[in-house]
Amino acid sequence: MNGNVDQAQCHESLNPWHIALKQLENVAGAIDLDPNVYERLRYPQRELTVAVPVRMDDGRTRVFIGYRVQHSLIRGPSKGGIRFHPAVTLDEIKALAMWMTWKCAVVNIPYGGAKGGVICDPLKLSTRELEGLSRRYATEISIIVGPTKDIPAPDLGTDNQIMAWMMDTISMHRGFSVTGVVTGKPVLLAGSRGRAGATGRGVMYTIRETYKHLGMQMKGSTVALQGFGKVGKSTALRLHETGFKVVGVTDVSGGLFDPNGIDIIALIRHVEDDGMRFIEGFRGPEFVKGAEANDRLFSMDVDVLVPAALENQITGENADSIKARVVAEGANGPTTPDADRILEEKGVFIIPDILANAGGVVVSYFEWVQDLQSFFWNEDQVNTQLENVMVNAFDEVLMIAQREKASMRMAAYMLGVGKVAAAMKLRGLYP
Ligand code: NAD
Repeated sequence: MNGNVDQAQCHESLNPWHIALKQLENVAGAIDLDPNVYERLRYPQRELTVAVPVRMDDGRTRVFIGYRVQHSLIRGPSKGGIRFHPAVTLDEIKALAMWMTWKCAVVNIPYGGAKGGVICDPLKLSTRELEGLSRRYATEISIIVGPTKDIPAPDLGTDNQIMAWMMDTISMHRGFSVTGVVTGKPVLLAGSRGRAGATGRGVMYTIRETYKHLGMQMKGSTVALQGFGKVGKSTALRLHETGFKVVGVTDVSGGLFDPNGIDIIALIRHVEDDGMRFIEGFRGPEFVKGAEANDRLFSMDVDVLVPAALENQITGENADSIKARVVAEGANGPTTPDADRILEEKGVFIIPDILANAGGVVVSYFEWVQDLQSFFWNEDQVNTQLENVMVNAFDEVLMIAQREKASMRMAAYMLGVGKVAAAMKLRGLYP
């Protein structure tokens, strides 16, 4: 037998689009999905590739490649973040757009799914270059976005300043302020209170509900997080407030480890206030540099593991080393199907991405509603409504999981795909 072929067959595909299609295929079988609906759901409704020329600080013009994919507009305008990262591919954006479709249906907000991305390293661009890139990318995708069509938001490598530039760019084109065209904007610019920490708050609610279900105590529990960006920081803070000990954190610079618990408030101050951006240089806990940090983090003896960085972090290769009782997916697509099977056999309770990290899009929806009405809520209102939505979605997914004897991921897919399929059938096939 050809050794290379054999080896290639042993390794699972890490292409996120192949994974997303496989997940859809699995749920289609489980819910007896109408084959005509299944055929339509396998394709993104629209894919746009754009060339984004930017005048760099050295006077040269550089062209970056960007994408905006709208997987589905069946349940309303499409919604999804914009990613600035060197490893962005069209297949990744297609997968993320499809996952957004299911996520919006799971939490029952009236959106379809979309995602955007630009192949670039934002950490290597000056502020002026980043603004040029954001504004030109916004211009290129403006033909398909708008408050009634498709509403972007921040994701990996983008933030509220970039959303402000994008909102301003679209507003300049139209000749008036179009606040509802993007969410995740600064509060001063028609953003929503509570949006910045919404994803982490949502992750915390799903962990809290899981703990109730499993009969576990949050106070004194331990958690390790991969990623200390928008999602990682806010999740760590909320868990810290509920009595968790954060014993491990990694980011792109390395990892911090302390069995007595890391001072999360001081670490957030370190990455935000001191302009450090990275966890490296934080005093106190042991610091481990390089890829070794993630290996150590994933195999820590903790109660909860929160991947909050990239896709394909828990794979068939490292899933067996995981000792956590609960994995809460702050990131999108952090666990591969092979890893899923291994974790399930080990009895790990996985809170799937399309449920765990949905708090971000839920408060983005609240922001859009506030923008359309020009009527703004206080933070308590936002957090209370978020909690209601997250707890209801969690209960619904758990109920399906118990009824169907399915994993939480399969149950979330049954709920999300089932709702989109039902909406598609009601609308029919045009023309
Ligand atoms: P971010 O850019 O704010 O932060 C990303 C973090 O991951 C940074 O701390 C970075 O250093 C770290 N990181 C990158 N590569 C790493 C590696 N190899 N090992 C360890 N850490 C690494 O991005 P974010 O908005 O926090 O998004 C993180 C994930 O959460 C993504 O999968 C995103 O799609 C998902 N997500 C984000 C939101 C949101 O509201 N921002 C909502 C839902 C899901």
